[in-house]
Amino acid sequence: MLRRIEIVEVGPRDGLQSEPDVLATPLKLELISRLVDAGVRRVEVASFVNPKRVPQMADAEAVMAGLPKRPDVQYVGLVLNRRGFDRAVAAGCTEIGMVTAATDSFAQRNQGASIEETIAAWEEIAPLAHAAGIRAQVTISVSFGCPFEGEVAPSRVIEIARRLAAAKPVEIAIADTIGVAVPTQVTALVEQLLPALNGVPLRCHFHNTRNTAVANAYAAVMAGVHTLDSSVGGIGGCPFAPNATGNVATEDLLYMLSRSGFETGIDLGKLIETARWLQEQRGKPVPSMVSKAGGFPKRSAA
Ligand code: MG
Repeated sequence: MLRRIEIVEVGPRDGLQSEPDVLATPLKLELISRLVDAGVRRVEVASFVNPKRVPQMADAEAVMAGLPKRPDVQYVGLVLNRRGFDRAVAAGCTEIGMVTAATDSFAQRNQGASIEETIAAWEEIAPLAHAAGIRAQVTISVSFGCPFEGEVAPSRVIEIARRLAAAKPVEIAIADTIGVAVPTQVTALVEQLLPALNGVPLRCHFHNTRNTAVANAYAAVMAGVHTLDSSVGGIGGCPFAPNATGNVATEDLLYMLSRSGFETGIDLGKLIETARWLQEQRGKPVPSMVSKAGGFPKRSAA
């Protein structure tokens, strides 16, 4: 039997949020519906943050209102505080994602808060989400390296993850926010983290900034991770790594996983078509490789 790997598609939120141009609401809705049609069942669709700080996400409520109700699909909203949580609940998100970081320098630059403050926000909101019947998960940014503090000790990530796990997230994610991780590092961190999480599942979020994301994803699944983030076309950079390739591309990941004997439930051909469609809408190339080369063996659509 094929082992199942779950993909969380982050393109409509994490991807678009890190791009300079703003995609119009109807195009976002078409993008999400194409992804769901391809088989994606968890999609980051919006972030409920200050629209002055993140104009790409100013239409969060309109996006949620335009999405069809699908009990089999989790529409994930990013929230950083109580106000964002209340907006996400009112908009109908079925899952929220929160964020902390492995270093204070990154937490301050990215969220304007210390690690302690972001953990406190998680500890405040997780029980509210549980009471409201909303799935809640949390990501530790810069778990593999920080643009300001350099190397990040695994012990630091483990200590933060232990504290986050106490408030019972549906999972904890570790993010290679600036794309510095290598597979041996991924294997080592995942192997140390999994036993420390009291059964809370681990998700991994890789960036392809230095061309190691697919290799890192393979290392993560071989070490026991069942859920990976990725972004259609590989869109979404990092504001701290200008001009760098961003999130690992969903179609690049799907190609590797399906050819390696893993099942995702997502149609590679449809993902490639969606990446090419997005490229046309935005009028500039997407970074992924499989959207250019197509799958293998060749099929008529791809
Ligand atoms: Mg990302």
